[in-house]
Amino acid sequence: MTQETGGFAALDLNPNIVAAVVATGYEEPSAIQQQSIPIILAGHDMIGQAQTGTGKTAAFALPILNKIDVSKREPQALILAPTRELALQVATAFETYAKQMPGVNVVAVYGGAPMGPQLRAIRNGAQIVVATPGRLCDHLRRDEKVLSTVQYLVLDEADEMLKLGFMDDLEVIFDAIPATRQTVLFSATLPSSIRSIAERHLREPKHVKIQTKTQTVTAIDQAHLMVHADQKIPAVLRLLEVEEFDALIAFVRTKQATLDLAAALEAKGYKAAALNGDIAQNQRERVIDSLKDGRLDIVVATDVAARGLDVPRITHVFNVDMPYDPESYVHRIGRTGRAGRDGRALLLVTPRERRMLQVIERVTGQKVAEARLPNAQAVLDARIKKLTTSLAPLVAEAEATHGELFDRLTTDLGCSARALASALLRKATNGQALDLAAVEREQPLVPSFAPRGERTERGERSDRGERGERERRAPLPLAEGRVRCRTALGARDGIAAKNLLGAILNEGGLARDAIGRIQVRDSFSLVELPEDGLEKLLAKLKDTRVAGKQLKLRRYRED
Ligand code: AMP
Repeated sequence: MTQETGGFAALDLNPNIVAAVVATGYEEPSAIQQQSIPIILAGHDMIGQAQTGTGKTAAFALPILNKIDVSKREPQALILAPTRELALQVATAFETYAKQMPGVNVVAVYGGAPMGPQLRAIRNGAQIVVATPGRLCDHLRRDEKVLSTVQYLVLDEADEMLKLGFMDDLEVIFDAIPATRQTVLFSATLPSSIRSIAERHLREPKHVKIQTKTQTVTAIDQAHLMVHADQKIPAVLRLLEVEEFDALIAFVRTKQATLDLAAALEAKGYKAAALNGDIAQNQRERVIDSLKDGRLDIVVATDVAARGLDVPRITHVFNVDMPYDPESYVHRIGRTGRAGRDGRALLLVTPRERRMLQVIERVTGQKVAEARLPNAQAVLDARIKKLTTSLAPLVAEAEATHGELFDRLTTDLGCSARALASALLRKATNGQALDLAAVEREQPLVPSFAPRGERTERGERSDRGERGERERRAPLPLAEGRVRCRTALGARDGIAAKNLLGAILNEGGLARDAIGRIQVRDSFSLVELPEDGLEKLLAKLKDTRVAGKQLKLRRYRED
């Protein structure tokens, strides 16, 4: 165990939990974890003010795992989450942290899936139930005793639950759990409705809030980019093509992420290295020295590993993973702009983390402008500029040393000067794409997001659960050459994206990559298809049925 993991070990958690957390790649507890875990372990009720991205899930999941009695096969902890997606995420997090605790069973309970298997899983001995309130109430109506053994209750994203209209359901659930329980409430905001719940249902709760004092940041040009979690590495690679940096530090959250990104950068020819808590101190010092003297240009680090790192050459900080709190953001970006130089800080934001971005802006008192991923033309321009810059010092003198050789080669090869120069360029650029079509082929557009304000969350929040919220979200921006088509079949018809994909692939005779995003809503679905040949394709799919119902795909008119 490295020195940094002492952070978790010092929290008095079961060693099996600490081991699982360390195996996940976490190096130290985040601020909310540091503060909440001892309170929950000590049995207090608690109100935690924290949003997604602060590590709040582990802040309650770890102490709860610590408390449950694995030998008892009955529900002991109930976690309420506003959406199906969050419920699934929380359940997965519990499973990850319980990897080294045999006998722990977690069940996720949410709408849109059959009730029978969920109830069976609860009765079969799941100690941890993660549920959306609506569906849980349906279960309570069938079996009012189902929660009678619960001792720990967590309300996750309580403000979101109220916004989605779950107030009455929450009251029903509170009544169904023994009053002797311990209750923990997490919420990004604490409006009066949440305070009133806390007054009625929590006992002398301790408050935990991550202090966000105003921080000043100067001389650093900051921007953010909306990007899906799985698109972060391609996004970084593309950004690096156009950013003119001297040395750069990229921050990620886990050891594995330092390794993955550093490997991707090295594969592209960057002089990059990973810096994480597993790397021995003397090796770390070597990495930092290399960054200082230019043997390395990019270091991919976790916060812990980058502690004390002060390298004046750093012109850029990439926050590839969101920091846990605004202080850490300010701290990270302070690595650039040293000694009065200009610095640039880029922050990648996934849809779930929009709120964290707002908190950072509030605390720093500055807007973090939205940047877009460079398009193929910008990438090409940057490549040509780099080539020009690398050739510039040579043109003045190379003729004296290589001019005669050049003449001889044109004669020997019987070709024009332009033909020979082109051949040399091709060799020198090592197969790099240097015309627009080739760059476009090489870098399929990474979909970035619509400007903030529009709720266009994909994946992480693709389902707003039982309240029909998902119907209201704006559609995602379209990639070039694609149009959106709509079918009236949706989740309530038992449709999943894979069913639509299968039907369109089979019956439309399309290649997999011709089909873009598929968004399944409650009462309809949207599918991105190539504009080229659309009419023919729709004609082919005219009689297609999915889940026994007519697909009836039509072009969807965007607003
Ligand atoms: P949450 O705020 O709970 O949604 O967590 C946000 C992300 O941070 C998740 O991807 C977690 O896996 C990750 N995370 C939580 N705690 C830590 C930690 N102590 N170290 C590294 N990553 C963490």
